[in-house]
Amino acid sequence: MLVVMKNDATEEQVRAVIQEIEKMGYRGIPMPGAQRTAVCIIGNKGPVEDAQLLAIEGVKETIPVTKPYKLVSRETHAESTVLSIGNIRIGDGEPVIMAGPCAVESEEQALTIGHFVKEHGASVFRGGAFKPRTSPYSFQGLGEAGLKILKKVREETGLLIVTEATDNENLTIVEKYTDIIQIGARNMQNYSLLRLAGQLKKPVLLKRGFASTIDEWLMAAEYIMSGGNTRIILCERGIRTFSDNTRNTLDLSAIPSIKEASHLPIIVDPSHAAGRRDFVIPLSKAAIAIGADGLLVEVHNDPAHALSDGMQSLYPEQFAELMEVIGRLRSYL
Ligand code: PEP
Ligand code: MN
Repeated sequence: MLVVMKNDATEEQVRAVIQEIEKMGYRGIPMPGAQRTAVCIIGNKGPVEDAQLLAIEGVKETIPVTKPYKLVSRETHAESTVLSIGNIRIGDGEPVIMAGPCAVESEEQALTIGHFVKEHGASVFRGGAFKPRTSPYSFQGLGEAGLKILKKVREETGLLIVTEATDNENLTIVEKYTDIIQIGARNMQNYSLLRLAGQLKKPVLLKRGFASTIDEWLMAAEYIMSGGNTRIILCERGIRTFSDNTRNTLDLSAIPSIKEASHLPIIVDPSHAAGRRDFVIPLSKAAIAIGADGLLVEVHNDPAHALSDGMQSLYPEQFAELMEVIGRLRSYL
């Protein structure tokens, strides 16, 4: 349930509402909006008796929340969330481009790609230091040495960094170095990792699990948000279907579905969806046209020798072309 405060409600009145909710044995989370604050009740198993709450001064009304997810739902927060991270704003209409290699392989590789994508308009550098690989024999990432390289990329290019934490242990290390913590598709329902990320201050990029529904994805985001970390970006990266012409099937309808159900920003990763670089530009165009708040794209200076995901990594000149195409497309939207 959502307890909506009047426009002129005081902080003290909001506190009184939270205290009353706590007396009932639940938690009350204030959700400040542009016009007025609302307090979202979480922890209740069934309907909440609202008479006591309506009696508190400053309370306008109570609204039942119908969805199983509360804090990430648009029902509790009607305005779209715009996240400010460093010098970027995500969700305010200007697509944010995150680009870089699948994995950090060396300082030279990361800096070469970093400078290139920065010059062509990216604002975030991606690159895994801890890689979740299907095979235990594949390159697993450079670990903390890779994070140190990412730090250098940030210092030299001014790009923000997004990199993946694959387990509870490396999450605390990743958090020290990165600007945005990536939780990958394979970990979308790793609830202890989600809970831990919920206790951190850094924003989280939460990818959709490749066999997850929209509701399951939003429940995963709810784990993070109910822990206190409200800065979440969702990322559609393709789901598994019977279609085998691409690595995954990009679910473009996830973007309007998320926009309807949630106030959180959503970006698209066309690289893992396609699994082949020649589809990355067309899928990116579609993603921006349908309303995605940004892209997460793999780019490599030497894809043929990439230690992971070379097939789907754009050549630098293709990334330049992508940025040009997105720029042109933006003028029509
Ligand atoms: C990645 O971004 O490199 C990655 C492993 O992605 P996903 O979790 O979507 O497979
Ligand atoms: Mn990859």
